[in-house]
Amino acid sequence: MDCLFCKIIAGEIPSAKVYEDAHVYAFRDIHPMAPVHVLVVPRRHIASADEVNAGNSAEVAAIFEAIPKIAADEGLTNGYRVITNCGEDACQSVHHLHFHILGGRKLPDQMA
Ligand code: AMP
Repeated sequence: MDCLFCKIIAGEIPSAKVYEDAHVYAFRDIHPMAPVHVLVVPRRHIASADEVNAGNSAEVAAIFEAIPKIAADEGLTNGYRVITNCGEDACQSVHHLHFHILGGRKLPDQMA
């Protein structure tokens, strides 16, 4: 499968890893939008949030168990934002489910 994040998870494309476990891989966004900008992805390919179902939602649960650990490791004691872009209108550019963790500064109060 020609998927950028699958290749990153497989180590075929380099990444700045910040966390990994059996289900989850997390690495720094190559174009950070905040002092901390981490992408958290399932090892198993899921195209987007729109593809989550009863058969793969355990991967999403694992991601949300990992997120507080990553936030703590990154020193995000004052809060952070978690975002997933899903599909064309949300400008999803990589079609492997990923959650952006953004923090390290006061973020704008508007989402869009
Ligand atoms: P989205 O637009 O929500 O699909 O987010 C995709 C994100 O992947 C963007 O924030 C990109 O900066 C990021 N990105 C693209 N290629 C890489 C890469 N090789 N390593 C790390 N982040 C990447």
